[in-house]
Amino acid sequence: MDSDNNYLRLTPLGGLGAIGQNCMVMETEQTMVVIDCGLMFPDDYLLGVDVVIPRFDYIIQNKNKLKGIILTHGHEDHIGALPWLMPYVDVPIYGSRFTLQLVLNKLTEFNLKDYIKTQVVTENKPLSIGDITFNFFPVCHSIIEGFGLGIETPVGKIVHSGDFKLDQEPMGGHQTDLEAFRQFSRSGVLLFMSDSTNVERDGYALTEREIMSSLRDYFALARGRILVTLFSSHIQRMQEIFDLAGEFGRKVAVSGRSLAKNIEMAMEEGFIDVDDDIYCSLDQLAGYKDSQKVLLLTGSQGEPLSALTRLALGEHKQLKINKGDMVLMSSRIIPGNTKAITRVINNLYRLGAEVVYEKVRAIHASGHAHRDELKVMLETVKPRFFIPVHGEYRHLFKHAELARECGVAPERSIVL
Ligand SMILES: [Zn+2]
Ligand SMILES: [Zn+2]
Repeated sequence: MDSDNNYLRLTPLGGLGAIGQNCMVMETEQTMVVIDCGLMFPDDYLLGVDVVIPRFDYIIQNKNKLKGIILTHGHEDHIGALPWLMPYVDVPIYGSRFTLQLVLNKLTEFNLKDYIKTQVVTENKPLSIGDITFNFFPVCHSIIEGFGLGIETPVGKIVHSGDFKLDQEPMGGHQTDLEAFRQFSRSGVLLFMSDSTNVERDGYALTEREIMSSLRDYFALARGRILVTLFSSHIQRMQEIFDLAGEFGRKVAVSGRSLAKNIEMAMEEGFIDVDDDIYCSLDQLAGYKDSQKVLLLTGSQGEPLSALTRLALGEHKQLKINKGDMVLMSSRIIPGNTKAITRVINNLYRLGAEVVYEKVRAIHASGHAHRDELKVMLETVKPRFFIPVHGEYRHLFKHAELARECGVAPERSIVL
């Protein structure tokens, strides 16, 4: 995009045409920044491949022009490829406090932490990098402290939605700041890039309040232990489980490294608020009656070494499935994992547990806006140009069509 001598060039290195590897290079004549740096978990046909990362050649060739990396939120498809880029560049990473906490955990694992600068950004304070200024707008998503971006460039304003949904009944302040998007957009937005993941789903995504109410029904119903699996970065859902445990006089213990690590970090850093007498160790939990126990477990995707999978196989060192256990799988079944998860569910039933998963009742909500929410966002930002991002090709195609329905000129709604 050109005006006088100014230009803005966008180079997507991933995230368009497949879900994962979100990584967008944005540059003016003087400045280059990267928005998100994610990985993708491989499809079945990539046998033996652990992770898929974007090709970084273009960034590395221009590393002298590169001034920073901006992260919208802490999901793996947005931060997961950092360990493969950071050894080659020398710029700060910017993100919310929670996002950077996850980044630091990751960089520590890769022995990179001491070499890399990070800087926390907040919604009240714009960040200028060269001739580009970023404003951070809170968005509701399946992870806390995510941001959409209002970007001021020499050629005009750009809005990037980040991964978002519009929860109409937000809890704990986890809400998309639509008003901030509206204020920023008032003087005219040149380009809008928006999350396309759920463009095929009508209406609005389920709200976290609805999910909590379904979970509460099961807490009321359960007579024995309650075992819960969830995504280990879904801090808000963890808070709900702790709150429900408190409400029903139960104690919570955790089995599984990634989950325990995130919960402890979230408690230390104040991202969740848990009474000391509710959270306990597995040993301490053993002293209570089954009707007073909640176990948070890794294994929402049937991962072979996870706590739930080992329990389902009778191979867990400290725990066994009892008759009367209720297992709540409070997360989406990622399509490639269906077989592994189904095997776990069958084994749990075999051992006498009852299992609640997405086919039984919705105890998980998508973090991505459905069609009506996408419309609201398009009508709020009212861009001159639209580029759908974060989706498989058919999602991008349909989102570009939706933008035309919402008033973007047909030739300016562009699938890259
Ligand atoms: Zn996300
Ligand atoms: Zn994402």
